[in-house]
Amino acid sequence: MSSKKVVIVGAGPGGLTAGMILANKGYQVDLFEKQQTVGGRNARLSLDGYHFDLGPTFLMMKFILEEVFELAGRKAEDYLDIRSIDPLYRLDFGEDRVFFPTHDKFRLEEQIERLFPGNYRAYQRFMKYEKVKFKRLVPCLQVPYDSLGAFARTRLIKALPYLDAHLSLYKHLSRFFTDEDLKIAFTFQAKYLGMSPWSCPATFSIISYIEHAGGIHHPIGGLNRISQAMAKVIEEEGGRIHLGQPVQEVLVENGRAQGVLLESGDRVKADHTIINADFGHAMSHLIDRKHLRKWHPDRLAKKEFSCSTFMLYLGLDKLYKDVPHHNILFASDYRKNVREIAETMVLSEEPSIYIQNASITDPTLAPEGHSTLYILVPCPNNRSRIDWEANQAPFREKVLEIAEKRGGLADLKKHITVERIITPTDWEQKTGVHIGATFNLAHSFNQMLYFRPHNQFEEIGDCYLVGGGTHPGSGLPTIYESGRISAGLILKRDAWYLY
Ligand SMILES: Cc1cc2nc3c(=O)[nH]c(=O)nc-3n(C[C@H](O)[C@H](O)[C@H](O)COP(=O)(O)OP(=O)(O)OC[C@H]3O[C@@H](n4cnc5c(N)ncnc54)[C@H](O)[C@@H]3O)c2cc1C
Repeated sequence: MSSKKVVIVGAGPGGLTAGMILANKGYQVDLFEKQQTVGGRNARLSLDGYHFDLGPTFLMMKFILEEVFELAGRKAEDYLDIRSIDPLYRLDFGEDRVFFPTHDKFRLEEQIERLFPGNYRAYQRFMKYEKVKFKRLVPCLQVPYDSLGAFARTRLIKALPYLDAHLSLYKHLSRFFTDEDLKIAFTFQAKYLGMSPWSCPATFSIISYIEHAGGIHHPIGGLNRISQAMAKVIEEEGGRIHLGQPVQEVLVENGRAQGVLLESGDRVKADHTIINADFGHAMSHLIDRKHLRKWHPDRLAKKEFSCSTFMLYLGLDKLYKDVPHHNILFASDYRKNVREIAETMVLSEEPSIYIQNASITDPTLAPEGHSTLYILVPCPNNRSRIDWEANQAPFREKVLEIAEKRGGLADLKKHITVERIITPTDWEQKTGVHIGATFNLAHSFNQMLYFRPHNQFEEIGDCYLVGGGTHPGSGLPTIYESGRISAGLILKRDAWYLY
């Protein structure tokens, strides 16, 4: 058994994954988190007896979560009660055109042929194509890309014909579907990466395939329960989680990380240092700029980042029984709305909104007869210079109006008992998310795989990166992979020591 020391900066999903695997392998894990709770953007937000997920509400590729628990010698099911959500979501295109994608093949066929006549065969072709693409691509996301040699791995070469990176997601789906709304139903998932379907590489069409083939899951208590479960595993293995202990700087000597300096003034030495803090934030605040070249903050300023989100967390004194778990209300001109988010960077007059009515599935989130409502509105990141102090109140009104009119939430405003708003400015200033880009560095082709920050940090030895801003990407399954890859690299490096 090793008694080597690992220090982790941040208790988000990436840091927790790496922490639980390494703690199980005998490392002395010390995890420093600046907030008073674990989870980062995947933390629990509690307001007067109402419990919300701060960020992620869709769990996909559940098998990856199960695998990382197995690597830590555990069964995910012993810690989490995970339910499948079906229908997946309600997609509202306006003018009474509402689509409920479902695992029930008969209901799915009936809906597609009624709403988008002649497209069911195309759906079947899409799913067949994406199944192969998924099988080829997923293994590429499970390994590090630390050199150009690694970039030429056999598994990537095998996947090349399916990368479709020369196409946008929208163009790719246009090869299958004839109906505009149906194309949107299979491309809006670009927003999970904070990108536009018209510029996001078609590589990511596997996301809608993953939803349709593998499903969307919800752990009872919310997705924050996953982070809490991981923290529990770390502590069961003797690891220590230090809450409310911000790291001020990663200590570097002769090009190698030596541990961290805490804001309290304490120095914590370690054999390996893992950074889970938001990548852009870490480069700008946690590492002395003299150690940075490729990822120097000046260079970061030229990189493409994701959009941001305006958030409303509402505790209600009633449950809207007819509103499904996940709801997406598309702006009548969705393309314009997306352009405003990503290109012209202005607040949309008519935004698209996502509403989660999780209490319909999960009674643990609110007192009996009450419910929680989570509303997410994609909007420009802080490069837009939108004045959120001035815009917050009118934007909230607009969003609630749309929710009341189109979301099946009549008289919503009258039923709000508690409320919390998070704006893009809050994401940046209170949560340490670089330029409020909630989904990190964009996933454009020149910022993917070898071109994304490597898990063994290129600039500093004994320093590893995990989380959405690093390889393989933003989104829980890929973040769990980043934790698995970094833990694997550390284990490989210490193989001589362990065995
Ligand atoms: C609104 C929203 C919705 C999302 N929805 C989904 C979804 O449905 N499905 C999905 O798969 N993904 C979703 N994501 C994306 C992604 O899964 C989450 O953002 C995820 O929590 C990111 O994990 P992470 O490991 O990168 O770190 P983070 O969650 O960002 O955690 C980093 C941690 O580091 C800490 N930290 C920072 N600086 C310091 C310091 N100096 N010292 C100590 N600690 C520090 C932070 O406090 C934080 O706890 C969503 C994200 C957001 C914001």
